[in-house]
Amino acid sequence: MIDKPLVVPWAETLWNKLARQHAESRLPHAILLTGHTGIGKIEFAQAFAHLLLCHQPHNHQPCGHCRSCELLSSGNHPDLVYLHPTEAGKAIKVDQVRELLQFLHNTAQQGGYRVVVMEPAENMNINAANALLKSLEEPGNNTLLLLVSHQPGQLMPTIRSRCQQVGFPMPSADQAAPWLTQQLGIEAERAGQLLRITRGAPLKARLLYQTDRVSFRAGFVTGLADLLKARTTAVTLAEKLYKEDLLQLLEWMYSLLVDIARLQADSETLKISNADMFKMLNAVAKKTTAVKLYSLIDQLQAERISLMERHNPNRQLLLETLLLGWVGLVR
Ligand SMILES: [Zn+2]
Repeated sequence: MIDKPLVVPWAETLWNKLARQHAESRLPHAILLTGHTGIGKIEFAQAFAHLLLCHQPHNHQPCGHCRSCELLSSGNHPDLVYLHPTEAGKAIKVDQVRELLQFLHNTAQQGGYRVVVMEPAENMNINAANALLKSLEEPGNNTLLLLVSHQPGQLMPTIRSRCQQVGFPMPSADQAAPWLTQQLGIEAERAGQLLRITRGAPLKARLLYQTDRVSFRAGFVTGLADLLKARTTAVTLAEKLYKEDLLQLLEWMYSLLVDIARLQADSETLKISNADMFKMLNAVAKKTTAVKLYSLIDQLQAERISLMERHNPNRQLLLETLLLGWVGLVR
């Protein structure tokens, strides 16, 4: 059995309903899954495709270890097609649909279901939609076309009428907040804040948080590089960053220092975690000494512990000291 839940809790009822239809061979050929963006439709469609392709589903869940499940986890199952615009926001084109028709013409290679997940279906241009029409009626046996749409009103009525329309539920605040808190390991207050920005769409909120993280890390690392090049000072940078998630900053810094230690032992890019920072890390590794490096690592560890134990340190001073230690590596 797969140990992590495949679907978000607010879609469990829908999942069980469709899984039961599948178990009783009552699934339609084409389903149009509709609802707001960022509430879990695409993940649901992919998980449901997984269930259909599994050779030994159990309790409405894929087994996780049959040949079909293995192919899915390696990301190339021959009986699953995932159709989406080649560029975000662009149209799904007729050539893509023609390839799909070719796929539908062949029999299933793993001897079971064939599944097509298309999203967002409203991005099909008119030619693409027309090309798909006939296949929506008769895609062949044991075949499911799963069209995901955030704006079904934009679909051609002839497409809509050939699918069984299934509304994807919007989570209540009581469902969304705990899910997001648990997914990101953040505090309830921050989760609530993210959900307000995304109008209650939890997956959109998760993406927003993760993207924010990426640019936050990029900003921090750029700051460290500027420090080495004397484009900024430890005081200025600490002032800019001390109100941020300090524990996270320290974790990133720790990981950079460990990489430098690795590079000193062996200047092989593949062995480090922050491969995107190889140039800067390698330059530091060449200039610094092991004594300086390990004393900064020790200091950083001590500060991490005091932060975690909430000793209420002077955050700005703490960060400033560590940043001075960072510059000190190459001076
Ligand atoms: Zn399986």
